[in-house]
Amino acid sequence: MQKDQLLTRRRALLTGAAVVGAAGVTGLLTTGPGTEAARPTTPAAGAQAAGRPLKPSAYRLRPLTGYGPPRTPPGRTPVRSAPLLRVSGRGSTMVLTFDDGPDPRYTPDILDTLATYDVRAMFFVCGEMVSFNKDLLARMSDEGHVVGNHTWSHPLLTRLTRGRIRSEMERTCDIIEKGYGERPQWFRAPYGAWNRAAFQLGAELGMEPLAWTVDTLDWTSPGTRTIVDRVENGAAPGVVVLSHDAGGDRSQSVRALREYLPELLDSGYRVTVPRRHHV
Ligand SMILES: [Zn+2]
Repeated sequence: MQKDQLLTRRRALLTGAAVVGAAGVTGLLTTGPGTEAARPTTPAAGAQAAGRPLKPSAYRLRPLTGYGPPRTPPGRTPVRSAPLLRVSGRGSTMVLTFDDGPDPRYTPDILDTLATYDVRAMFFVCGEMVSFNKDLLARMSDEGHVVGNHTWSHPLLTRLTRGRIRSEMERTCDIIEKGYGERPQWFRAPYGAWNRAAFQLGAELGMEPLAWTVDTLDWTSPGTRTIVDRVENGAAPGVVVLSHDAGGDRSQSVRALREYLPELLDSGYRVTVPRRHHV
């Protein structure tokens, strides 16, 4: 690419960041319940739940800023009534998250790309997948990534009893601790379907609920270019990006990361993992 073209591209990305407020709000609104209702009823990895327990507006229409650090005693996790959608922090920070893995077909490629650019990301893993791929969890730990809890078997939590939800979450905390070396500090509900039990049990287990700001919808295999565009159009300080490293053919997600990651970095974004006091 010519240097001037590259600069134009960077400027375009930065311009996108400058209008974050508007773009962010629009993004949240357009990925709201209207869009989700049109999705297939068969739960696909990463799909939002068709029958959701909370009014989507309850968290999707929250202001984009104002998530102050929780004023709770050290070691205690607050019980929230909505998941966190973004992170705060100094500068243009962005967080990349990959759900449903680890999967030996795609996760290693993603880890390789992150290593190439010396970038840390978050992996919301399923306990069942971890049980078959413990080595990948160890690699995530070695390379400084953050591992979150995405339940054991990726069920729709809103259809489960409290006891089943607890078991899904607790077993996954246990297997993460074994393979990763620490218990997870973050939880993400499958299909983005949260309920009160998930918030309460998550807090009991020491986990903060983290959703996302930008959904790449990569599980629909929209094409590598579309995934790249969604990330770059949604790029803004504090944005949390949702992608998947398992649950189907994720080769587009793998290829897209190779394209958008260097471009985000060139545009001045710091791609990193959140710390609990940054939410
Ligand atoms: Zn998922």
